[in-house]
Amino acid sequence: MRLVALAGGVGAARFLRGLVRVVDPADLTVIVNTGDDREFYGVHVSPDLDIVIYTLAGRVDPEKGYGLEGDQFSVVDALADLGHETWFRLGDRDLATALHRSLRLREGAGLAEITDEIRCAYGVDVCILPMTEDPVPTFVELSDGSRAHFEEYLARDGAPDDVSGVDLAAAAAAQPAPGVLEAIDAAELILVCPSNPVVSIGPILATAGMRSAVIECQAPVIGISPIIGGAPVKGPADRLLRGIGVEVSARGVAGHYKGLLDGIVIDDRDAAQRADVEALGMACVVTETLMRTPEIAASLAQTSLDLGAMVRSSR
Ligand code: GDP
Ligand code: CA
Repeated sequence: MRLVALAGGVGAARFLRGLVRVVDPADLTVIVNTGDDREFYGVHVSPDLDIVIYTLAGRVDPEKGYGLEGDQFSVVDALADLGHETWFRLGDRDLATALHRSLRLREGAGLAEITDEIRCAYGVDVCILPMTEDPVPTFVELSDGSRAHFEEYLARDGAPDDVSGVDLAAAAAAQPAPGVLEAIDAAELILVCPSNPVVSIGPILATAGMRSAVIECQAPVIGISPIIGGAPVKGPADRLLRGIGVEVSARGVAGHYKGLLDGIVIDDRDAAQRADVEALGMACVVTETLMRTPEIAASLAQTSLDLGAMVRSSR
């Protein structure tokens, strides 16, 4: 069965590590957010693409959920000694990934082709596509009228709470990368990973034609809530959801995805919200969604596949 997953970084990668245990990796295409991409130290960093590749390769730093396990930080430390701002802590080998990407871009290669080179070099057998090859920075707007690139908001400023909006205009003006719309058209099931709905899934759906492609394709669309017990597992999804006026809950996420999802998997801790979710017109399954181990992630992935099959058979 041909599968497409829409993915951000850490939450998505944990889920995908489980998914590849229960499906044939050759059937899976992952479409990854590039709204967080930014140049650091003269190289093109694609945080979410690299998190997904490193995690599927079994090479990610398990504590942080991003970067490479055992990486050194000689280059950023040396840059700091030379007076550079180094709030974006990029490991040496991680920097090599970004340097490769930059060198290949300079040679005229596209981001999709380069991403494929990197995932092959890391021995990942899943097709991984950037959502677009165009530069599509996401900006977070704060109540004092200032705005910051998402990585500046997160890593430099520590994700302050007074978010007033998120600017996805660059994504909205961008074309999907080669292969993206074809993968959605061919999909028999689309999974929306447990990623940040605002700044990870938001930019993917904002990319020109993407939301309508997902809604109009024949495949059931199944999401997994990244919010458990009224809070994100990690990261600023609570501040960003509040900032765009969405309740920080599984029910809030379901409402945000109304019209897109045919079904959603929510956590046991949120079982009481099931009726509210179903009232939005989507199927709902309640299970353990905190992916403490790859086994739990695999079980969550299987539950998501089963919900997709149930939606399909009820049509
Ligand atoms: P980022 O780009 O690295 O921030 O990664 P994502 O957008 O893919 O993931 C961030 C989201 O993943 C956060 O909102 C977390 O709540 C969610 N997340 C992380 N780990 C888990 C987990 O084990 N279970 C669930 N349900 N969500 C998770
Ligand atoms: Ca990200």
